[in-house]
Amino acid sequence: MNARWNGQFSCFDLVAKTDDCSPVTVTVGDLEIGGGDFIVMAGPCAVESEHQIMQTAEAVAAAGARILRGGAYKPRSSPYSFQGLGVAGLKLLRKAREATGLAIVTEVMSEADVDVIAEYADLMQVGARSMENFSLLEALGRCERPILLKRGLTATLEELLRSAQVIAMSGNQQIILCERGIRTFETATRNTLDISAIPVLKAVSRLPVIVDPSHAAGVRSLVPMLARAATVVGADGLLVEVHPSPEHAMSDGDQSLTFAQFRNMMVDLQPYLALQEDDRRHRPRLLVAGGAD
Ligand code: PEP
Ligand code: MN
Repeated sequence: MNARWNGQFSCFDLVAKTDDCSPVTVTVGDLEIGGGDFIVMAGPCAVESEHQIMQTAEAVAAAGARILRGGAYKPRSSPYSFQGLGVAGLKLLRKAREATGLAIVTEVMSEADVDVIAEYADLMQVGARSMENFSLLEALGRCERPILLKRGLTATLEELLRSAQVIAMSGNQQIILCERGIRTFETATRNTLDISAIPVLKAVSRLPVIVDPSHAAGVRSLVPMLARAATVVGADGLLVEVHPSPEHAMSDGDQSLTFAQFRNMMVDLQPYLALQEDDRRHRPRLLVAGGAD
């Protein structure tokens, strides 16, 4: 392990990796994240209708996803954009879970909504725009659900871990970190996927790390390639936007995969997952040989 990184982050004692602590595995329903299985979470940006969420849940479950995503409360850059269905959306997510057995991840934007969302969600998502909403993080620390913490648009990894530490200090260490692209000077993609964030976070923190290639890319054609990159650098899973008819989506249609594209992506990932598995088995030898640590 890189001594400087370890020193730099060790102040985040509950979430930092130290020589005498084991990695955190996060339990979501009957799934374990961070324990070696690669878990894919997929679904629309926003829950729009019963038909849309049920169809999507069936399709992503059939392709191998284990968790259904879908926002009922949407943080939007424009106040004129679709804001989500609220509790009606949460009820549709529950119905989709009953039909498919998929666990549910959905975003919580406000401290006031924590209790109601915890009634419906298996995993509570903190969006990039809320990463430093400390009263929300503290409330999530007190709730008895695992947390998916997304990296802020301009947040350093230290700031991401600081937010994780706030949740952990409030009583909840069941936290998954999510790299979803950061804002840089580059405009060809919606955000810049910081691929090195994954091995760095895996080296300095005890928490599982997943990648959201959809918000990083902003265009669906790049999503499968970024997903592949995430698997080979050691991510514990993915969060991917999928929509039955992306051109009609009420939010983030340009970056949403069709069902067929999602299915293909899942099949194409298999050899890369095998590589990751192989890398895990040989990790000590490879690190010494590469001299990278
Ligand atoms: C989302 O997952 O739909 C979302 C709003 O993501 P982010 O917070 O990463 O922008
Ligand atoms: Mn989205």
